[in-house]
Amino acid sequence: MRQSLLFVPTLREVPADAETVSHQYLLRGGYVKQNAAGIYTYLPLGLRVLKNVEMIVREELNAIGCSELLMPALQPAELWQESGRWDDYGAEMMRLKDRHDRQFCLGPTHEEVITSVTRDYINSYKKLPLALYQIQTKYRDEQRPRFGLMRGREFVMKDLYTFHASQDNLDEWYDKVAQAYQNIFTRCGLNFRKVEADSGAIGGSESAEFMVLSAIGEDTIIYSDTTDFAANSEVIDVAEGSQLPDGSVAKHAKGIEVGHIFKLGTKYSEAMNANFLDENGRKQPVIMGCYGIGVSRVVMAAIEQNHDELGVVWPSQLAPFDVHVIPVVMKQTAQVEAALEIYEQLQQAGLNVLFDDRDERAGVKFSDADLVGAPYRIVVGRGVSEGLVELKNRATNEAVEVTIAEAITLVTK
Ligand code: ATP
Ligand code: MG
Repeated sequence: MRQSLLFVPTLREVPADAETVSHQYLLRGGYVKQNAAGIYTYLPLGLRVLKNVEMIVREELNAIGCSELLMPALQPAELWQESGRWDDYGAEMMRLKDRHDRQFCLGPTHEEVITSVTRDYINSYKKLPLALYQIQTKYRDEQRPRFGLMRGREFVMKDLYTFHASQDNLDEWYDKVAQAYQNIFTRCGLNFRKVEADSGAIGGSESAEFMVLSAIGEDTIIYSDTTDFAANSEVIDVAEGSQLPDGSVAKHAKGIEVGHIFKLGTKYSEAMNANFLDENGRKQPVIMGCYGIGVSRVVMAAIEQNHDELGVVWPSQLAPFDVHVIPVVMKQTAQVEAALEIYEQLQQAGLNVLFDDRDERAGVKFSDADLVGAPYRIVVGRGVSEGLVELKNRATNEAVEVTIAEAITLVTK
């Protein structure tokens, strides 16, 4: 990609209303633009990162046998009346009417829709288990939208729903999904913990949250350094330094919830008549699980945990570009030609390369490159007359002078 064609409206000043580092870099780096409180446009750089998170989610869920579908954001009130949540959901639900005065909402979640989509199909134990997910825009009229994509009113969620003939089978899938979540958040470069959680408004028996450890987190995690114990303070309230149920000492930390998994049981299938015939021909309500990931929130959490004073240091799998190739002076034909050659070779090797073809001062190019945060930067300057370029590793900020061929080998391997 040629940078002159890329729409990256970077800002020199820290936006006054951005309280967290991740929100500041998100705006300064030209990743998103706010349209209203909690509502954003994903600009080309931001969308690349978002798509990278989505790809990781898809790969890990497909690997355990889930399949993707796409449900509507616009949902009829009747479905929510069936489950009883039209009245229960409250002010967070965005409600609207069509021209015939029929009521709808913009989906804050999709338990009702998925149950209505699958209930006719799942008529026998032979159709189970089933695991269906989507990556889709959700709407919640949050009381306090804040921290950029962290708490939006329109945001991207991955929601997975599983269907089972027995509790044992749900338990098995719940563990399998939890493992896929571990893989996803690890690949996203996050330092996180799985914690025991409250099932909340969605209902159900067991649930766990995936919390990214961060001082700006809204949840408090109570955990132990010596055992596996970890829970949301909503579930158990133990003062720091006091004894936990397993005998170890309680520690406290702040966490950003990036994922939540639930054993729903039969709450929705009973309310909405989603039944199947078991092996003995007896009618049973389908047993369900549901599993969310805040895809757009993951982008924020990744910035919050991976940055320095210059900008975002993207985990390699999330970076909008793998390599940034920068000719220092555009009027120096030798620099531009060598940079173009490197750009083309790296693209042929299958890498995502950003080529800074803008006629800007070196200082501007470098500070913009810091905000883009590509794992590798190749600077083509005066050294090119001896066949040398500078290769910089964004994570360590270490730069080495190498030949063009060495730069290409180091970056592609
Ligand atoms: P929270 O307690 O943060 O409001 P929640 O319990 O309401 O989250 P879920 O209904 O479990 O969230 O949604 C699944 C995931 O979607 C959450 O784990 C979180 O990562 C993400 N999420 C929830 N609300 C928002 C939001 N307003 N903006 C961005 N992501 C969100
Ligand atoms: Mg919420």
